[in-house]
Amino acid sequence: MQGITGETKLLGVIGYPVEHSLSPAMHNAAIARIASPGSNPYPALDYVYLPFPVKPQDLETAVAGFAAIAVAGFNITIPHKQAIIPLLDEVSPVARAVGAVNTVWRTDRGWAGTNTDVEGFLAPLQNSLQNDSKQWQETIAVILGAGGAARAAVVGCAQLGCREIHVVGRNPEKLEAFARSWENRSWENGPLEIRPIASSWEALPELIPQAGAIVNATPVGMHPNVERSPLSPTLTEQIKADTIVYDLIYTPNPTLFLRQAREAGVRTTIDGLEMLVQQGAAALKIWLNRPVPVDVMRQTLQKSLGISP
Ligand code: NAP
Repeated sequence: MQGITGETKLLGVIGYPVEHSLSPAMHNAAIARIASPGSNPYPALDYVYLPFPVKPQDLETAVAGFAAIAVAGFNITIPHKQAIIPLLDEVSPVARAVGAVNTVWRTDRGWAGTNTDVEGFLAPLQNSLQNDSKQWQETIAVILGAGGAARAAVVGCAQLGCREIHVVGRNPEKLEAFARSWENRSWENGPLEIRPIASSWEALPELIPQAGAIVNATPVGMHPNVERSPLSPTLTEQIKADTIVYDLIYTPNPTLFLRQAREAGVRTTIDGLEMLVQQGAAALKIWLNRPVPVDVMRQTLQKSLGISP
């Protein structure tokens, strides 16, 4: 990385805790590449990206302080993704639809926020062979889990035009609240056309054989519980060969769920790394207003996670 100068602008990530975040490594590697003379036709930029541990009760003070010291933009992660919304002057339609913001930048009117997780979620699907709107209109999507990542997956599947989006949860009250939270939620051109259908875990034997896309948005199978999978081997064997099986977990890579799906004959499996890369690349593009070296971001994450390219 180039040295810090009197003109260095500040980017960062607010979270609590935030020490585990891979974003500083990913963004600083991309910034260093952009700053290398001759790396591309754009003039070098002088930025640095730092982690900021901010307790929930300090969020408002931190954001006001960021404005005072002219921070150019920041990511926002757990537990602040919803709490940041009332502190912003502008919120994008996609962030309103998800109900959470992960990227904030400074405009003439104040802070603007969006959610790049949906773009990140969609990127590997759009690169897959099934980037065919007709096929998506026939697709039944089954999303396992009803937390924050599931929200981005629901909006992504709605954007793809999926015929039905089932969200499967283990806690009936939370599931009900998740389903209700989409009522009256607006999209760019009006209400979301597809509303997620809340389904219990017990409905899976019926849903799995019909699913054209299955997304694991639970932490089941994530490091260190690498021997776990959200679906039993019997259910995994019910998945059709042409179903897209997408695990949002990025470590281990691949998860047991993806390995078992492949063994059961599934042709298209997607891990969570590309979503992580692409949500970061989308944020950096917003802050720098120029193309960003996505390959450098991917390689940095692979190295940080010990994944062989
Ligand atoms: P979250 O908000 O905590 O939601 C997790 C969901 O999984 C909740 O609905 C939870 O149900 C459910 N769940 C947890 N343990 C379960 C179990 N043993 N059996 C069944 N359901 C279970 O977490 P999140 O932020 O959505 O993250 C979910 C996963 O996605 C994590 O592995 C995370 O690493 C990954 N992720 C990846 C990316 C990426 O860029 N690739 C981005 C975001 C998240 P309860 O509410 O009942 O506990």
